Amino acid sequence: MNFDLTPEQDQLRDAVRALGRKYGHGYFVEKAKAGTHTTELWQEAGRLGYLGVNIPTEYGGGGGGITELAIVCEELAAAGCPLLLLVVSPAIAATVINKHGTDEQRKRHLPGLADGSQKIVFAITEPEAGSNFHRLGMVARRDGDDWLLTGRKCYISGVDEAGHVLVVARTEDSATGKLKPALFIVPTDAPGLEKSKLDMEILSPENQFLLYLDDVRLPADALVGESLDAGLPALFAGLNPERITVAAMGAGTGRYAIERASEYTATRKVWGGRSIGTHQGVAHPLAHAAVQVELARLMIYKAATLYDAGRDLEAGVAGNMAKYAAGEAAALAVDTAVQALGGAGMTTEYGVATLLGAVRAGRIAPVSREMILNFVAQHVLGQDKSY
Ligand SMILES: Cc1cc2nc3c(=O)[nH]c(=O)nc-3n(C[C@H](O)[C@H](O)[C@H](O)COP(=O)(O)OP(=O)(O)OC[C@H]3O[C@@H](n4cnc5c(N)ncnc54)[C@H](O)[C@@H]3O)c2cc1C
Repeated sequence: MNFDLTPEQDQLRDAVRALGRKYGHGYFVEKAKAGTHTTELWQEAGRLGYLGVNIPTEYGGGGGGITELAIVCEELAAAGCPLLLLVVSPAIAATVINKHGTDEQRKRHLPGLADGSQKIVFAITEPEAGSNFHRLGMVARRDGDDWLLTGRKCYISGVDEAGHVLVVARTEDSATGKLKPALFIVPTDAPGLEKSKLDMEILSPENQFLLYLDDVRLPADALVGESLDAGLPALFAGLNPERITVAAMGAGTGRYAIERASEYTATRKVWGGRSIGTHQGVAHPLAHAAVQVELARLMIYKAATLYDAGRDLEAGVAGNMAKYAAGEAAALAVDTAVQALGGAGMTTEYGVATLLGAVRAGRIAPVSREMILNFVAQHVLGQDKSY
């Protein structure tokens, strides 16, 4: 058993940490409040190769795995820059296209995803279906060689920043007549695609959208993969990278909050000469949160290691557990940090309350804590499904 990163992974971690600190949480908040994006950070991360660490070298990537991408997500978040689009574009979209796309799709999209010049966001959630993707109502119909997509999606992150959106739809299986999933790479400026920004109570430079597709016409090669049979495996291919990287982002955010609070409580004095951190009522909750974050990190890197070793089923269990643990730990860490800072905790200047919305959302998205508990109950504990 080895808990150490490789020397290359260590170097990556130090380099990404330095980049994150160069921008910092003040930059992230400024962009969010101005309603703009973290374009400079994204572009620099792309130029330095951090956005493509998991993409094969033949397409301009770093040739690493999800472990490397998790390191990037964690370290940027630990510097106060939790970038959700890392989870959708390099983690989900690049993995799906690399593993299940056609040669032509890989050549067309992966180099741009690797250098950050292109973003592809991901749309599965629908207003009526919610957590139950079996109820997806986005329908893809054939019209000659083309496809026509009609339906609605909600909470789709980053549509305003992306050239394409990977849309999960359903088609009719000609053999069985049953509906089966299919993924399409849809240009965000396609005629018939409308977006409307949702007002979210999350301070973030990345936005969520409702998407309306009304007979959006797509060429045959917009379908991910050579045939409709690629749909289900392609959809599942994105799940483990999504859970692992979103968990890494949560753990990084937790580390960031605990670090801010610890710096403060070690120096703030309100009772004579002692810092407030000497009071166990202040220090223990922070220490408890630090333990939870570190436990989540163990599971994140276990899941990433299993995934990169091709042990997908075990990675699925570990990835779900990591996502659950990191979601809870991040929310606990930020809330605890706010409390430890007192009034300062609620100011923009100290930069912890600014993360409350994001970590709260991390217990809901991209998969809710309840759905993970359902997964663990069924697949680890052997319980019957209640729904
Ligand atoms: C900030 C943010 C960004 C997002 N970005 C994207 C994106 O880029 N792309 C995308 O496709 N989606 C995105 N989502 C959507 C997200 O994945 C969904 O919100 C999430 O999957 C939950 O679905 P829902 O909101 O419809 O909740 P619902 O399914 O309506 O569930 C509501 C509540 O009921 C619980 N519940 C539901 N079913 C069960 C059950 N069987 N057992 C126990 N509890 C249950 C849920 O856990 C939840 O607490 C984003 C959401 C947020 C908040």
